[in-house]
Amino acid sequence: MAKYVYHFGDGHAEGNAKMKDVLGGKGAGLAEMTNIGVPVPPGFTISTEVCTYYYAHNMTYPRELQTEVEQNLAKVEESVGRKFGDAQKPLLVSVRSGARASMPGMMDTILNLGLNDETVKGLAAHDERFALDSYRRFIQMYSDVVLEVDKEHFEHELFALRDKVGVKTDAEIPASALRELVETYKRIVREKHGSDFPQIVKEQLWGAIGAVFSSWNNQRAITYRKLNQIPSEWGTAVNVQSMVFGNMGDDCATGVAFTRNPSTGEKKFFGEYLANAQGEDVVAGIRTPLPISKAQVIGDEKSLEETMPDVYAQLVDVYKKLEGHYRDMQDIEFTIQSGKLYLLQTRTGKRTGFAAVKIACDMVDENLIDHKEAVSRVEAGQITQLLAPVFDAKEKSKATGGGRVLGRGLPAGPGAATGRIAFNAERAVQMAKDDPVILVRVETSPEDIAGMHSAAGILTTRGGLTSHAAVVARGMGRPCVVGAGMIRVDYARGELRSEGHEPLEEGDWLSLDGTTGEIISGNLATRPSEIVQVLLENSMKPEESEVYRNFDRLLKWADEIRTMGVRANGDTPNDARVARLFGAVGIGLCRTEHMFFAEERILRVREMILARNEEGRRKALAQILPYQKADFEGIFRELHGLPVTIRLLDPPLHEFLPHTEAQISSVARDMNWGFVELRNKVNQLHETNPMLGHRGCRLGITFPEIYEMQVRAIYEAACAVKNDGIDARPEVMIPLVGTVGELQLTSDMVRRVANEVLKEKHADVPVIVGTMIEIPRAALVADKLAETAEFFSFGTNDLTQMTFGYSRDDAGTFLPEYVDKKILPKDPFESIDQEGVGQLVKLGAERGRATNAKLKVGVCGEHGGDPDSIRFFRSCALDYVSCSPYRVPVARLAAAQAELEFKHYEG
Ligand code: ADP
Ligand code: MG
Ligand code: MG
Repeated sequence: MAKYVYHFGDGHAEGNAKMKDVLGGKGAGLAEMTNIGVPVPPGFTISTEVCTYYYAHNMTYPRELQTEVEQNLAKVEESVGRKFGDAQKPLLVSVRSGARASMPGMMDTILNLGLNDETVKGLAAHDERFALDSYRRFIQMYSDVVLEVDKEHFEHELFALRDKVGVKTDAEIPASALRELVETYKRIVREKHGSDFPQIVKEQLWGAIGAVFSSWNNQRAITYRKLNQIPSEWGTAVNVQSMVFGNMGDDCATGVAFTRNPSTGEKKFFGEYLANAQGEDVVAGIRTPLPISKAQVIGDEKSLEETMPDVYAQLVDVYKKLEGHYRDMQDIEFTIQSGKLYLLQTRTGKRTGFAAVKIACDMVDENLIDHKEAVSRVEAGQITQLLAPVFDAKEKSKATGGGRVLGRGLPAGPGAATGRIAFNAERAVQMAKDDPVILVRVETSPEDIAGMHSAAGILTTRGGLTSHAAVVARGMGRPCVVGAGMIRVDYARGELRSEGHEPLEEGDWLSLDGTTGEIISGNLATRPSEIVQVLLENSMKPEESEVYRNFDRLLKWADEIRTMGVRANGDTPNDARVARLFGAVGIGLCRTEHMFFAEERILRVREMILARNEEGRRKALAQILPYQKADFEGIFRELHGLPVTIRLLDPPLHEFLPHTEAQISSVARDMNWGFVELRNKVNQLHETNPMLGHRGCRLGITFPEIYEMQVRAIYEAACAVKNDGIDARPEVMIPLVGTVGELQLTSDMVRRVANEVLKEKHADVPVIVGTMIEIPRAALVADKLAETAEFFSFGTNDLTQMTFGYSRDDAGTFLPEYVDKKILPKDPFESIDQEGVGQLVKLGAERGRATNAKLKVGVCGEHGGDPDSIRFFRSCALDYVSCSPYRVPVARLAAAQAELEFKHYEG
């Protein structure tokens, strides 16, 4: 029989950390903590399978569920010595969502469930104020989540009451006033919902369970899943847990903490708490919470370490135990009830790329993890954060000196951001289409997620380092400053004010330093990251940059693990240099057409295309040759002997032609042609569908002199640098091959010209010729192509375009909707379509290697820098991927991670 409910409590749990699929992250964490002896209030977890069942069976539950829930509830009652619905000693529970992947704040949780007009009296026997405070919280949460009565109705009354009794915080509202408030709340429910607030506790429980399952499909959860690529099939678990109370007086509190700093990775326990408060108060950013440790204190704040030293000591013990057990940075939630500590959640803490790298390296040094583990810990894409620009120090000190610093908040997400102010998420999304945007809010809530995603940076005036804004921004890698209390945001007027400064409005420029917390008016120039300064600019020494040193260590560990090579795509000497310094083992795609566009060359290229005959073409080409040769020389010199795959001319010729009347007449003048004559020639060359027209090797076949010139330039350049003692390793690649004949004709020509040059120069450079596989037919006849080709490089951009029949340049109009409607799981131009296009890659590689076991096979499309695609290419046993130079670190890390996973599957 299926088991749907898993108990935890009293030092023993039916589940454990490995059961995230069934218990969700939260449930698995509660079970594991219970098992290792961390104090956790007892409860039980209803498995994710129930959620799947619920959606598959028209919102109903499996038959056995009710009995299982009741049995587990009875166990909890016994363990805490209270009864659910009992008038004297009522058991109260929280009903908490918890998916497999953490989705902070995206779904709903209800606290204090089990309160009604009778049980509240039982609770009040101990402390009336506390009982009523809990009841009003429960009515609000339950009504909002289950009965769909908007929480604003309740909050409005709460604020009015605070004003009426003349207090600032909820904790100061006296019992008598709360009693009234509860009555008002019940009246609101009656009016808005049309019936009384449910008094039967079992009904409350099942209502809440149903609501958690339904919240899996609320809008913000759906958006979050989409942004984070969490499959909607996973479902959520529901945790029902006995309540502990942080709102029972001044020796009570609730808080959240990270075992290390999630923003920088610094090894310091780090967190925030609120005295006499309950659960959500801290994360909601409603009151700015206080620091946990003395070390964190700014000004005259009172830390937990000072106000409750005993509990702080318990907390330190627990966090060390948890970090040691999980061997990773944990994000924990705790509550202190009458001086006793309880843990309510632990999970692997979300962190910035900076923190991820530092924590991984530190943990290796602390002997907590090995190199492999360190490499698998850092999300490959996150490493790009370390390469992102920071503010130029000079510019910044000018701004500071010029009085442009509007204030300082908490540095919640590192990095520099400059953009135009938007005061709400919707505007941020719109405005981001034109310029970078800084989203400025008092606080953010899960509804703002799309706006946060489109913003370059995020600023809030309230909330701490664990507020919603901070957590989400870090997850997205956005620079973020929170809790900037000196800044006032007036939504109604659309203004941001800071004393002594002109108010700023929507659209004004604002700059945020997410590393220091500074908020600066205006558009501030940035400078390259420390890594770029060390590696590329030599303006910083490795000893001066810990960020660089850790980055370098981690990537070297990755290099030890991976078997797949990483090359870069680049067309210029500078690209080649960046690629080499970022650790590429060569250039995987050097596009030669870019060399044709430069100002002084385009005229020669046009002359060549428009020439009346072969002789004219050859004359023009002879003038282009020195340029191409110089380009290749520059690249060879920068590569210091690394290989470079050079693709012969690929784009349709008309891309080089003049189009407007003005362009045509100026070119006609330059070339000494008549305007009409030239226009006719241009029209004659016009193609209806140039992407599928006269391009690629088709050009090389109809105008062999073009490819001949290019090959000559390549090998003359190689010989020239060889004279200077530099090893040049060109690999000539024929584009857009679909048939064996095309490849044979062009590669014979390449080899002939190359050998001619080498003979002329008495030099010895290996002549290597291969082909791009980007037409589906080429993948299918790969076995035959491999008789001629010495290497294959999958051009997955064109291969995707031609396999799907989607024009790369036009797919933007419908692809997003395809993804929304789940016709496609992802944009196939971003991440390889493993099911379809992937088959061609796999099959092409296999067939090619069947003919030529030594065939070298790589990928040079955009997919070469995408971690998921890289994983797939590893499974096809490709020799290398090639991506843009700045993606090389990502690809090195992703290739190592793919290797670890692959080895793991192989056993
Ligand atoms: P989220 O996933 O949004 O963090 P949680 O289920 O963790 O939601 O709960 C929200 C808040 O309520 C957290 O601060 C949590 O610590 C607190 N909380 C949840 N269950 C209990 C409980 N049984 N006793 C006390 N506080 C609780
Ligand atoms: Mg939580
Ligand atoms: Mg192509």
